[in-house]
Amino acid sequence: MSAFVDEFMAELKAKNPGEPEFHQAVIEVAESLEPVLEQSPEYRKAKVLERMAEPERVILYRIPWVDDKGEVQLNKGYRIQMNSAIGPYKGGMRFHPSVNLSVLKFLAFEQTLKNSLTTLPMGGGKGGSNFDPKGKSEGEVMRFCQSLMTELCKHVGDRTDIPAGDIGVGAREIGFMFGQYKRIRNEFVGVLTGKGREFGGSLIRPQATGYGAVYFAAEMLATRNETLEGKTCLVSGSGNVAQYAIEKILDLGGKPVTFSDSGGYIYDEAGIDREKHAFLLDLKQVKRGRVKEYADKYKSAVFTPVDESRDFNPLWAHKADCAFPCATQNEINGKDAQNLVDGGVYVVSEGANMPTVPAGVNLFVEKKLLYGPGKAANAGGVSVSGLEQSQNTLRLSWDAEEVDAKLHGIMKSIHKQCVDAAEVYGFQGNYVAGANIAGFLKVAKAMMAQGVV
Ligand code: NDP
Repeated sequence: MSAFVDEFMAELKAKNPGEPEFHQAVIEVAESLEPVLEQSPEYRKAKVLERMAEPERVILYRIPWVDDKGEVQLNKGYRIQMNSAIGPYKGGMRFHPSVNLSVLKFLAFEQTLKNSLTTLPMGGGKGGSNFDPKGKSEGEVMRFCQSLMTELCKHVGDRTDIPAGDIGVGAREIGFMFGQYKRIRNEFVGVLTGKGREFGGSLIRPQATGYGAVYFAAEMLATRNETLEGKTCLVSGSGNVAQYAIEKILDLGGKPVTFSDSGGYIYDEAGIDREKHAFLLDLKQVKRGRVKEYADKYKSAVFTPVDESRDFNPLWAHKADCAFPCATQNEINGKDAQNLVDGGVYVVSEGANMPTVPAGVNLFVEKKLLYGPGKAANAGGVSVSGLEQSQNTLRLSWDAEEVDAKLHGIMKSIHKQCVDAAEVYGFQGNYVAGANIAGFLKVAKAMMAQGVV
C-alpha cells in the first residue's frame, strides 16, 4: 500500500470509527486508484477521493409505528445522500435488522461508482431501516412504510433523490411508500423505482439485477470464447436477485444447482429446471416461505441448515464452473473462496454487494478467475431503475423486449469500460481495478468541473 493510501485510510478510520464495512469498501477502491492519482495529481490536490468518501448528507430519523397488538414499536430510519456530481441521488432502501450506518455508507459509496458505470445520469445514495419484515403482517408492513415515508418525503423527490428496493424491500414495500409520498406531497411523480406496472413501474425491473449479473458473466466468458451453455452454477440467496439470476442461467443453457436463505441452502444435483424454478418463485414471492420447503417437494434436493459452528459455507464447496453470490455482504469468506477455486469455479459474478471478503477478492484476482465485482456485475438493477425514471418523465412505457435489450446493451458497456480502464492502467483482466477506476473517473471529472462543493 502506498503512503497516500495509508494516510488516507488512517484519517478515514479516525473520522468514521466503528464502521468496518465502510472502511472495507473504501480501501479496495483507494488501492485500485493509486496509479490514477499518481498520473493525475490534480485529483489529489482537489481531495476528490476524500470528498467522495464523505456523504454530502446523512439523514437519521425515528420511525414509530403500532403493531397488530396495539404496542408502539420504534425503528431507526436512514438515508445516505452520498454524491450528486453526475445526477440526483439514487440507490435502494434496505430493511434488515443488521442495517446500520456502516452498512449503508458502504452501500452508498459503492453505489456512486456503480451508477457512474451504468452510462446513465445518476448520483449515489442508499437508505433503509433496522426493521425486520419477516413475520410481520401486511398491515404492520404498511404502517411501518407509511411512518417511514412521512419523514422521508421531506428529503426525496424525483429530481433530488430516488430510492428503490434492496434486501427486504420489494414491490409491496415500494407500493406502500409510493402511496404515502403521493398522499402527503399531492404529486404523482417517479420518486421511487421498482413500482408496480400499473403506476409507472418498468417491465424487467424485477428481473434486472439477476439478469444483469448473468449477462455480465456471459460477457466475461466471451473473452475466452466460451458461453454459459452446460455450465454448472452455484447461486446463493433466494430473493429478488437470486430468483432472476437462476432464470437467466436457464435461458442461457446453464445448470443452476443451489440457492439459499438465512436458514440454510438447497443443493439439487439434478439441476433446478423451469418447473422447479416456478415453484421457487411461488414459494418466495407468494407464500413468503423458506427454502427448506423445496427439499420437502423435490426428492433430488438436499437441504443443509446453517451451522454457526462451521467456519465456511458448504454451498461454495460443491464442484461447479460458475458462482453467483446473490444474498448479502461478506457471505464468501477466505475459506469459501479457496473452496470455490478448489472446486473448479472460474467465473464469479456478484449479484450481491460486496459478498466477498478482501482475502477472497485477492485470491480470485491472483488466480485470474473471471471475477466480476458487484459494482459492475449487479449494476443491471439500478440501470433499469434509471430506465424506469426515463419512462416516468416521458410518460411512456417500453415493452419488455426493448427494456431487456437496453439492459443487455448497458451490461456490455459496463463490461467494456472495466476491461478498457484496467488495460489503460496496467491491470489487464482485473475487473475489480477496472470497475473502480472507470467508475471513479466519470464522477471525479464532474466533481472537478463543479468546483469545491
Ligand atoms: P431480498 O431481500 O429479495 O433477498 C435477500 C436474500 O438473501 C434472501 O434469500 C435472504 O434470506 C438472504 N439474506 C439476506 N441477508 C442475509 C444474511 N445476513 N445471511 C444470510 N442470508 C441472507 O434481497 P435482494 O435479492 O434484493 O438483494 C440481495 C443482494 O443483492 C444484496 O446484497 C443487495 O444489496 C444486492 N442488490 C440488490 C439489487 C436489487 O435490485 N434488489 C440491486 C443490486 C444489488 P432470508 O429471506 O432468510 O433473510
